[in-house]
Amino acid sequence: MTRYRAAWVLPITSPPIPGGVVSIDRDVIASVGEFDGGAVEDIGNVAILPGLVNAHTHLELSWMRGQVAPCASMPAWAASLMALRRSVSHEPPEPIAGAIAEARASGTCLVGDVTNTFATYDPLLDSELSAALFREVLGFSVPDPDALVEQVSGQIADLTPIAWLRPSIVPHAPYSVSPALLQAIARWSAGKPLSIHLGESAQELEFLRDGTGEWRTLLEALGVWNPSWPVPACGPVEYLDRLGMVDEHLLAVHGVQFTDTELSRLASARATIVACPRSNRWTGAGVPPIDRFYASGARVAVGTDSLASVDDLNLFAELAEIRRLAPGVPAARILESATLAGAQALGFDAELGSIEPGKRAQLLAVRLPANVTDVEQYLVSGIAPGDLRWLDEP
Ligand SMILES: [Zn+2]
Repeated sequence: MTRYRAAWVLPITSPPIPGGVVSIDRDVIASVGEFDGGAVEDIGNVAILPGLVNAHTHLELSWMRGQVAPCASMPAWAASLMALRRSVSHEPPEPIAGAIAEARASGTCLVGDVTNTFATYDPLLDSELSAALFREVLGFSVPDPDALVEQVSGQIADLTPIAWLRPSIVPHAPYSVSPALLQAIARWSAGKPLSIHLGESAQELEFLRDGTGEWRTLLEALGVWNPSWPVPACGPVEYLDRLGMVDEHLLAVHGVQFTDTELSRLASARATIVACPRSNRWTGAGVPPIDRFYASGARVAVGTDSLASVDDLNLFAELAEIRRLAPGVPAARILESATLAGAQALGFDAELGSIEPGKRAQLLAVRLPANVTDVEQYLVSGIAPGDLRWLDEP
């Protein structure tokens, strides 16, 4: 048993504790609270907080870092990403391992990792990261959706089962997955976290409302447009709701375009919105309404998205962007988004996301400057990897 005392301890489930103590017994949190005497290892002017949760990334795209230029139109950005992706036969493993190391070094303990190939599985197996592995499926004109889901399900069955890597099947987006395939995936994934890119671009709204626009043009160019697709003539949340997919397992990723009505529907269903503001700027999707996300009462988690649309996988940098876009949102809520809310959305909150007895001791020690008056504000203002370490590592 080791008892650490620090300038601040942030359990997340309760307010920060000045001079608090965390006891760790064989990688499990034994207790957390105020200093009440006894032997402790005083680690000085640092804040102890739970490891961060990056609820949306695509580690297998890490080789694209800096290669897909920022764009004013999201479909145009996606088209250049697809063209680049077609230029390789497989996702190279070295950049994946590098991205995992980078995420870890910047304080991330858990990721929601979207993959089309499971190329990230073995690198994750060799790492300290836990992951909800979202095997993403696309198909706007798939003749037999259940057969496709069955085939992907077979890929999952072939993986080495490990408690901290949890694979599931998810759809890409409403403009790239047919309604029948969306429902086939939802049937398979019932009770599991279901992540989908939703409400990301203005063009997605146009596509769902009128069946026209740049996404339709792209589907036609790819030869997968289905002329008998029934245009839903509604917004993205209502579309998923009609398909029975809006519930507490849903992770609606991006939400740049969400109306207040859509946000309150997500809140009443206890769904999660995953904010990725730096990616939204890069891809041309726009500026997410961060303050409205929080005001809606929905659970808000945070993701970086992939290195194809962001400079780094440092979730602390994403928090600083959220802070900049929504200065009225309390820092405590932003920190909760980056820890407990992400763990809940990914189904890992029994083990991670807060400092509570019985959870895994995946804890960060962040060095504080001498003059910090508000530790929560400081932690959402951007923390560099050099200012943090994992508590169990020297
Ligand atoms: Zn994404």
